[in-house]
Amino acid sequence: MRIEKNYSLKNYNTFNVEARAEVVAFIESVADVFEAKKQFHNLNKHFVLGGGSNTLFKDNFEGLIFKNEMKGIKITDSNQDYAWIECSGGEEWQHLVDFTISNNLAGIENLSLIPGTVGASPIQNIGAYGTELKDCLDFTDAVDITTGEYRRFSNKDCQFGYRDSVFKHELKDKYFITGVTVKLSKNKKYNTEYADIKRKLQELEVTELSGKLMSDIVSEIRRTKFPDPSVLGNCGSFFKNSIIDVAFFNKLKLSFPDIPGYSDCDGLVKIPTGWLIEKAGWKGRRSGDAGVYEKHALILVNYGTATGKEIYCLSENIVHDVEDKFGIHLEKEANIV
Ligand SMILES: Cc1cc2nc3c(=O)[nH]c(=O)nc-3n(C[C@H](O)[C@H](O)[C@H](O)COP(=O)(O)OP(=O)(O)OC[C@H]3O[C@@H](n4cnc5c(N)ncnc54)[C@H](O)[C@@H]3O)c2cc1C
Repeated sequence: MRIEKNYSLKNYNTFNVEARAEVVAFIESVADVFEAKKQFHNLNKHFVLGGGSNTLFKDNFEGLIFKNEMKGIKITDSNQDYAWIECSGGEEWQHLVDFTISNNLAGIENLSLIPGTVGASPIQNIGAYGTELKDCLDFTDAVDITTGEYRRFSNKDCQFGYRDSVFKHELKDKYFITGVTVKLSKNKKYNTEYADIKRKLQELEVTELSGKLMSDIVSEIRRTKFPDPSVLGNCGSFFKNSIIDVAFFNKLKLSFPDIPGYSDCDGLVKIPTGWLIEKAGWKGRRSGDAGVYEKHALILVNYGTATGKEIYCLSENIVHDVEDKFGIHLEKEANIV
């Protein structure tokens, strides 16, 4: 296992901010997790890092970082309708998507081009274009970082919600996810409900769908929406969309008649947070090299030399102004470390 001390994380987070870690252990096996923990038991905190595409390092990290490098993808079971794919947590998410497409399995093609690792995918129940990980995850394998105990979490155990799971709450930082198993369809069932996808299929006059075509369409749409982190540092949506109750939504509508809202479950309404941020006057604004993306207000960007602290301060100013104007407290999707 490779160990680095006082190590720069600039190339390990898609915001491309500079932050140094006291120790980084590059984990290639479960045994490495225990070994690193034993060797650096005196350090008082730890963090599991995948691709750093949903993480903002606000400061240097005084502690132990487990950088997940566990690799491997295989089909473990199959019947007439489904196949089960087991994938190690250090694999890039896109490798898993490509593997399933080349094996003619359907279910995660709408999650094409989401950056990051497979091990991080259950943490916020990654989702895009009407599909979420929870729709096909069978189980998540993990080890308790402190006790070394292995645990298999069923889909239900993960308590998935909108960009949410048990791993963001009572089990936060407790487990190292070693891998996931997804159950995918052999029956070429694709989710084409999302408006952008429908439009594209019509435009292309598609008569026969394939996983590869769906993945190509999703990738093309995404390239027009998200800035490429290798060009402009970012972590995708910095905030979650806002969910409020219908009574509050109707009250807001009196003051802001054009406020968009989509019915969620149980009398709740989902409001696009990008709209709130834009109306609070933040779209395209920048403070030094930390800014709000000009094409999409949900995305914060690093124009070059912004520090994690500067991006964090910008996010707090946005939270403050949106709360002031609409009475809605924004929840961050990004993990602040
Ligand atoms: C351009 C862009 C577009 C994006 N689009 C989307 C999108 O459409 N949908 C979406 O859901 N997300 C999106 N994201 C966010 C991000 O890609 C996902 O959240 C992804 O799953 C993060 O993976 P990662 O390996 O980079 O996680 P990291 O940033 O490394 O870690 C994220 C969190 O997961 C924890 N973690 C990571 N690996 C493990 C592990 N093995 N065990 C335990 N905990 C772990 C970390 O401790 C941290 O809390 C986007 C990001 C970017 C930059």
